Amino acid sequence: MSAPSNAVFLKENPSDNLPDAGLWNRACRLRRQYWGNTVFLRGIIELSNHCRQNCLYCGLRRSNLKISRYRLSGSQIWNCAMAVKRLGFGTVVLQAGEDPGVSAEDIAQIVKKIKTELKLAVTLSLGEWEYETYALWRKAGADRYLLKLETTDEALYAQMRPGRTLTQREQALNQLRDLGYEVGTGLICALPGQSRGALNKGIEKIARFRPDMLSIGPFQPHPQTPLHSEPAGTAAETLEAMAHARILAPYAHIPVTSALGLHGNTTRLAALAVGNVLMPSLTPADIRASYSIYPGKNAEETEPEQRAAQFVQMLTENGFQPGQGPGEAWRLQNSKKVQIKE
Ligand code: SAM
Ligand code: SF4
Repeated sequence: MSAPSNAVFLKENPSDNLPDAGLWNRACRLRRQYWGNTVFLRGIIELSNHCRQNCLYCGLRRSNLKISRYRLSGSQIWNCAMAVKRLGFGTVVLQAGEDPGVSAEDIAQIVKKIKTELKLAVTLSLGEWEYETYALWRKAGADRYLLKLETTDEALYAQMRPGRTLTQREQALNQLRDLGYEVGTGLICALPGQSRGALNKGIEKIARFRPDMLSIGPFQPHPQTPLHSEPAGTAAETLEAMAHARILAPYAHIPVTSALGLHGNTTRLAALAVGNVLMPSLTPADIRASYSIYPGKNAEETEPEQRAAQFVQMLTENGFQPGQGPGEAWRLQNSKKVQIKE
């Protein structure tokens, strides 16, 4: 476990965005106890915005005929991965809609190439597939898998993800864990139809699963979805949920999601007092705005590599230490420390 740090975390923190001080301070202490002032940077490559699913909340849903669909070629993905390497980040995250047009074998090949030639950790966030597919990608070298439960309310889940069940999602998480992946999951904060109490119960349920990563981002209504006129999740309630998550799963990697990042750098920095991961997008500038899960996602005009470098600068200027190496799960880092002592 890292020693507590004296870093100045909340230089710009707006008090009106912060949850209950007792909860918040406890979460901040645990964050420092487990992760010091380190922030792990993961470069995310959004390789396709095609999706066979129809989640009510998401702009990539198959019924949205208004977005322009794209799929990166192997060489485009490779170029993005090299940018992650140049930036000195330890992990590439490959994310996409559930796109049957990308073969499992193609993903396996790019994972293998990134692992062997760039020596980076690989996280996949590609949705739900067969056990054999997860096994193929794991064999190719994928280290981690991020699959959010989104909500742990069974009825709401079935409504929000037509044709899918919470049980299937949980089974997928168990399969991923059995295959040896570091497993991440999480929830959407303020998902329409979900009370604050239900969200807290969801965090408690997820903590019992002991995830290696726990991601909570605010709901953002997308104009081309059935939830277009529902209210967005606020920064304050998301910060509170993240603090709750830190207390119940203090060892977990907790990212500051890009959905929360829409509230600006001040909120992003405040969130890093309990969270410890940032995932800047390295998707090519000319198409990244089409990965429009919600409005504003990837809308910045700065070149991806330059923007990611600005994140590093923002961290160091605010008392954080960019993480070195792959930034693996706490249980793995910790078991290694024990082995060294022996
Ligand atoms: N298709 C994969 C999946 O669903 O797991 C990975 C890509 S999906 C776009 C990544 C995440 O985006 C989801 O887990 C969900 O939490 C988030 N998301 C989608 N629509 C959102 C919205 N309107 N507001 C906030 N988060 C959203
Ligand atoms: Fe597809 Fe994922 Fe969006 Fe659902 S959340 S529509 S699975 S990209």
